[in-house]
Amino acid sequence: MDYQQFPKVDLGFFPTPLVKLPRLSQALGCEIWMKRDDMTGLAFGGNKTRKLEYILGDALAKGCDTIITAGAAQSNHCRQTAAAAAQLNLECHLILGGEQPDKAQGNLLLDNLFGCHIHWAGENRKGEDIPALYQSLQAEGKRPYIVPYGGSNELGALAFVNAVKELAEQSRGLAFSRLIFASSSGGTHAGLMLGKRLFNQAFELIGINIDKDESADLPFDAQILELARKTAVMAGSTETFSPRELILNPNYLGEGYGIVGSRENEAIALTAQLEGILLDPVYTGRAMAGLIDMIRTGAISRGEQVLFWHTGGAPSLFAYTEQLDLTQGKNQPI
Ligand SMILES: *Cc1c(COP(=O)(O)O)cnc(C)c1O
Repeated sequence: MDYQQFPKVDLGFFPTPLVKLPRLSQALGCEIWMKRDDMTGLAFGGNKTRKLEYILGDALAKGCDTIITAGAAQSNHCRQTAAAAAQLNLECHLILGGEQPDKAQGNLLLDNLFGCHIHWAGENRKGEDIPALYQSLQAEGKRPYIVPYGGSNELGALAFVNAVKELAEQSRGLAFSRLIFASSSGGTHAGLMLGKRLFNQAFELIGINIDKDESADLPFDAQILELARKTAVMAGSTETFSPRELILNPNYLGEGYGIVGSRENEAIALTAQLEGILLDPVYTGRAMAGLIDMIRTGAISRGEQVLFWHTGGAPSLFAYTEQLDLTQGKNQPI
């Protein structure tokens, strides 16, 4: 099952490593493994690289020459899209939420290096302004292509169906009881759900909800189920999903999207100091905080073999110097 009917461009290095985290495992009393999608390679990597291989494959097949997408100022999705567009010689327009900051840092700094056009959208951080920009670019004679918010459409989700196949091939002899990951715009979640079904994976799939957004027409869990269903149809499968199969854990939303609290700070510091691995402040820091808490509270039993899917994002650490708690480090007075 390679879905060769869907054109794909190579943007990353796959398979990404699957590694055991021995010191974190010992500290928490569970056997923790990590799928390193922070190492997909494209401009510091991340889960959007997988999605963009299919989405931009579609853009090229349709003869488009200009890419439009949207996200937060520190969007990892926008940074990877800008890099891929540079590689593929496509003009790239990013619609970013908020106002232009005095200094470009983290992902925004990189967006600028990739030479994309940045449009500041104020409150409209989820691509509300895409249609207007599409029309004006078209009026200029360009052939624009819209990459949806977070790359979360059927093509983006399909990439994560393939990612489960990649994992299944790598993890023979292992028996993960759970797969924990950060879920935010739904494409990763929908693809993992469908992939789990198609490749008979036994793990419980636990999405840690990152962004409590009540502005959408459909609640987020319903959006994920709908995307999983549509992705199955596109891939020629008759699989259906019931709401009972979807686990979207809302317990770790903290102070809101992109706000780093003590839980995220602890998770980032532990993973850095025990494993030398960087989590990010917005997504993986929060998801790892969820895993740590579920182990401590017994929701995940001691000794289980669990998989944490590292979805990337570390470049935004450099834009979070105010919120990262460096006292958890080992700085000592002389
Ligand atoms: C986008 C992103 C996610 C969430 O993936 P979705 O498919 O949007 O749910 C998780 N982690 C990081 C680092 C991301 O950039």
